[in-house]
Amino acid sequence: MKEFNSVLVTGGMGFIGSNFIRYMIKNYPDYSYINFDKLTYAANPDNLKDLEEKENYEFIKGDICDSEAVWRVMEERDVDAIVHFAAESHVDRAIQSAGEFIRTNVYGSYVMLQAALKYDIKKFVMISTDEVYGDIPYGRYSKEEDVLLPRNPYAASKAGADRLAYSFHETHGLPVVIARPSNNYGPYQHPEKLIPLFITNLLEDKKVPLYGDGQNIRDWLFVEDNCKALSLLLHKGRDGEVYNIAGENEKKNIEITLAILEMLGKDESMIEYVEDRKGHDRRYAMDCSKIKKEVGWKAETDFERGLRKTVDWYIKNKDWWKKLK
Ligand code: NAD
Repeated sequence: MKEFNSVLVTGGMGFIGSNFIRYMIKNYPDYSYINFDKLTYAANPDNLKDLEEKENYEFIKGDICDSEAVWRVMEERDVDAIVHFAAESHVDRAIQSAGEFIRTNVYGSYVMLQAALKYDIKKFVMISTDEVYGDIPYGRYSKEEDVLLPRNPYAASKAGADRLAYSFHETHGLPVVIARPSNNYGPYQHPEKLIPLFITNLLEDKKVPLYGDGQNIRDWLFVEDNCKALSLLLHKGRDGEVYNIAGENEKKNIEITLAILEMLGKDESMIEYVEDRKGHDRRYAMDCSKIKKEVGWKAETDFERGLRKTVDWYIKNKDWWKKLK
């Protein structure tokens, strides 16, 4: 028997959401998928153009802060699972102006949780982030039960949504699973984010703006590996639990930059060191033994291969990113 009939994916026209829908349609073709997305600047309807003809896929334009629109979809499409990606996602924008981050990431998540409760769904996967843990000293790895210390407005809004989801489980018994992935990279990522920004700048023969001394460390996770982890959590994650999803691939920003330069045959003169981001966390790093042990997931794509695939995708898909820059 199939586990779900109708899966509502919020933010499915964005980077991870669109990769996730593609992954799910391939691996679970007997479910129906509703992609509910407001189409902000970060969305690109071209991401899933090839799925338009599929009978089990439907796109609905809507805002997660609009509870009536959300309820209509829940009722009419008989939704029994929600995977909630929709968010404002760019830290630099949150530093400039955080209002929309609070509205979408916190209030919008509340609307989605409330709708899940009202329509008695079987599973709600909340997409949180490793940024909720804040700056992590060298040698330490965040565990799911660690205190959350978000240090920028984006991370704080995600921590708010993450804990709100947990509270709906504890208070109302809503079947919530909270996923905390690290920095994703891969095809269909908006060129405002580090890896696609650097690739596309170099393809246009422009310099790449590297923050501060370039020594900030992130854990990098290939988007397809993340999609697989999220699908496993949708099916096997325990209610009320948090799961870290790490690529176990820590890299300094300067290392990422040098790897991209090399793949594109450019030299270090293309690096432009720029003033550091305000409140820039030095390092994120997570322990992901829980997801490995409980659902048998681990990242499969090594960084060299994932980056090569990503660079090749941006080389082949200039029309996709040119209009976003
Ligand atoms: P993205 O910015 O590429 O996409 C976000 C999508 O959400 C867009 O399609 C946008 O139109 C939609 N959206 C925004 N506001 C909306 C609203 N009010 N109503 C409906 N739709 C709305 O983001 P992404 O990088 O794909 O990230 C997806 C999720 O994963 C986010 O919750 C983000 O916080 C989280 N996350 C991202 C990363 C990463 O490295 N990209 C890492 C960890 C967690």
